[in-house]
Amino acid sequence: MGLLEGKKALVFGVANDHSIAWGIAQALHEQGAMVGFSSIAELLNKRVRPLAESLDATFIEPCNVQNDDEVAAVFDKWKKQYGTLDILVHSLAFAGRDALSGQFVNTTRDQFQLALDISAYSLVALTRAALPVLQAGSSVLAMTYYASEKYVPNYNVMAVAKAALEACARYLAVDLGPQGIRVNCISAGPIRTLAAQGVADFKLMHKKFKEVAPLRRLITIEDVGNAAVWLASDLSSATTGEVLFVDGGVNLLALAAPDE
Ligand code: NAD
Repeated sequence: MGLLEGKKALVFGVANDHSIAWGIAQALHEQGAMVGFSSIAELLNKRVRPLAESLDATFIEPCNVQNDDEVAAVFDKWKKQYGTLDILVHSLAFAGRDALSGQFVNTTRDQFQLALDISAYSLVALTRAALPVLQAGSSVLAMTYYASEKYVPNYNVMAVAKAALEACARYLAVDLGPQGIRVNCISAGPIRTLAAQGVADFKLMHKKFKEVAPLRRLITIEDVGNAAVWLASDLSSATTGEVLFVDGGVNLLALAAPDE
């Protein structure tokens, strides 16, 4: 029997089969969870629906997380269809390409507001809208990156957004803890996805990662999916407000080991 048998999950952020959200959806499904999907409308029919249907999904709804009405509509529909939600996955972020290169000091107010709204505030908006369907034992997951803590070239405003996202997760964890609802982040190493392509020189960093990571290998969406299964399952029943690193150990390095 799977670890998530009988649980219902709603995954935000599948863009294509390279998406971290897709790795998570597959892993949750493999462990017995019923998985629903929400992505921005433009992606839904062409990209998301075929993937979702391959996991027998019966809930595939559009949502731009900047739009409160669309957020409310998704959870109203979920409530009518399924009543409760055990696993909420937030796997989405956005910053304009022009904000993800060059010097951080040049970040404009508009670039800052857009990145923080979509990438951090949306966790608060989705979690609040989900409250009527979340219950004791429910788990909320968000995807973050180590640039929230340490300088990473070109992450710029997205680093700030990830710091905000992690802080949001901690405050939500305290708010919802008394109801038995857990809120955690997964901090994944670099993975070649659509979003990652927006960061200048991401390819170079990705290439270097394997050489310096203590585990000497790249991170896959399956690695993240497996960690998500643990955080979504009852096995992580006393863990909330945490950032779980799925990065081959890179976060523990002050300096990369010298070349052999
Ligand atoms: P991705 O491009 O596959 O997914 C990003 C998703 O965000 C897309 O589905 C996109 O449609 C969605 N999105 C953007 N704006 C939106 C909006 N206004 N409303 C609703 N959805 C919106 O890329 P990914 O790398 O799988 O990203 C998923 C998460 O993982 C992000 O939070 C990202 O920052 C995080 N992450 C990625 C990496 C990496 O190296 N790829 C590492 C650590 C964390």
